[in-house]
Amino acid sequence: MKIIQGKGVYGAVAVGKISFYRRSDAMVVREKTDDPEQEKLRFEKAKEKSLSQLEKLYEKALKEVGETNAQIFEIHKMMTEDDDYNESVLNIIESQQVNAEYAVAVTADNFAQIFSAMDDEYMKARAADVKDISNRIIANLTGQGDTAADTDGKYIICADDLTPSETVTLDKDKVLAFVTKYGSSNSHTAILARSMNIPAIIGAGEELSADLDGKSAAVDGFTGKLYIDPDEKTLSVLTEKQESEKRKKALLQELKGKENITLDGTRINIFANIGGPRDIGAVLINDAEGIGLFRSEFLYLESEDFPTEQVQFTAYKKVLESMAGKKVIIRTMDIGADKQIDYFGLDKEDNPALGYRAIRICLTEQDIFRTQLRALLRASVYGRLGIMFPMITSVEEVRKIREILEDIKSELTAEGLKYSDNIEIGIMIETPAAAVISDRLAPEVDFFSVGTNDLTQYTLAVDRQNPKLEPFCNTHHEAILRLIEFAAQSAHRCGKWIGICGELGADTELTEKWLKMGIDELSVSPSFVLAVRDKVRKTDLRK
Ligand code: PEP
Ligand code: MG
Repeated sequence: MKIIQGKGVYGAVAVGKISFYRRSDAMVVREKTDDPEQEKLRFEKAKEKSLSQLEKLYEKALKEVGETNAQIFEIHKMMTEDDDYNESVLNIIESQQVNAEYAVAVTADNFAQIFSAMDDEYMKARAADVKDISNRIIANLTGQGDTAADTDGKYIICADDLTPSETVTLDKDKVLAFVTKYGSSNSHTAILARSMNIPAIIGAGEELSADLDGKSAAVDGFTGKLYIDPDEKTLSVLTEKQESEKRKKALLQELKGKENITLDGTRINIFANIGGPRDIGAVLINDAEGIGLFRSEFLYLESEDFPTEQVQFTAYKKVLESMAGKKVIIRTMDIGADKQIDYFGLDKEDNPALGYRAIRICLTEQDIFRTQLRALLRASVYGRLGIMFPMITSVEEVRKIREILEDIKSELTAEGLKYSDNIEIGIMIETPAAAVISDRLAPEVDFFSVGTNDLTQYTLAVDRQNPKLEPFCNTHHEAILRLIEFAAQSAHRCGKWIGICGELGADTELTEKWLKMGIDELSVSPSFVLAVRDKVRKTDLRK
């Protein structure tokens, strides 16, 4: 048995086989060959393997998501068999005397460029597909095509690191646990693991290598330990831990339907954070009283192009309707920094966290912003909507946002489209600037929501993505608590409410502090709602 130590970011236990996550766009190297016929044969074999994988994926998709969605795998099969595509690969191998991987990669680039230059939107979108089929063939050529994650069953997904978009597109039904070589506790990947309710370890270091693929392992998300080939004793200790966790969870279930009230009678709202309609089940099961943060950027991360007004409207409406009149606070998209999307075409930045992100993109590229606001306003008639804006640093930004909102309302009225006249407008307090001028911001909005993840990184000057800085990241630092306290005073002096939607909201060591500051709402991952309720109900502020 071997033990790899990392940092646990979601306390739970999992036992199963490892599947090492491989990026599909692996670097391809050009190599000269004396035997082009052999390379052509390798290509044909890899192609056959791809076709059989695509057939399996088609069958599976047909059962799980229906004919329309399964069609994509049929299209991929056709593209893989396309004569022009195949001729191009074989020609490059023959004429340049090079390896098959290189010939496929060059063909992929050439075809993708041709597709991208077409006027027809449908054909343009095929650029991504030709890359996709080529990556599959390359993976099969390099022997990486049969990752465990491609097969049935559940796996412990190990990876160097996972970007937020990779994490959201992973097939959740196959993930037993996450273990990454790099990563930090406040990264969105860690946040996603918590919201998915699965054991997760980050920062496992160099020992976490691709050789572990297929090995039996156990993940202890409490201690941050990954056991490779665990022995009987370890397995029985971990199984007992798993059982005890289940018993604790079962006890927490008894708190469903109970109030969030301290022993001395102080009340607080406990809401949940979500990334999209798929998380609603967890919100309802855990008895959250509302949604305090819907990270709408996940709609963008999950799609291959800007989600249309209709796609967004449908998602927002679904969440509002499912919450049946309970408050739903949707944050406008927070793209940029670690949440990068190719189709946004953002420039590479030296300091992305201090860069072109969130409201800065929205106020600059207003078409994107206006589409989202139209969708939000149209959806507002289906429930109790609050809209909040991320990365605010000035009063002027808020006034500009309000102007755009009013303009869109007039536009909708002129088109005969309805919206609610009862939408709360709030901002995130996640920059020190916003906290320090919170007394000036409060009159401009209906509520504040403190994003402690970013507030921590900007106050302490610790990049939330950099695992090396974990020892310098004291999330309970007095500077952060003072900024939050000041924001709470500013809100209350103006008769406005304030919540916390960053990860610190679920830190039960601070629950008493939040209550004393008069924080009105804590919005946490759905799986933490009942644990925070438990803490609130055991707190006595008279002591
Ligand atoms: C935060 O910064 O605390 C927050 C809630 O937003 P995100 O984690 O999505 O940046
Ligand atoms: Mg933030």
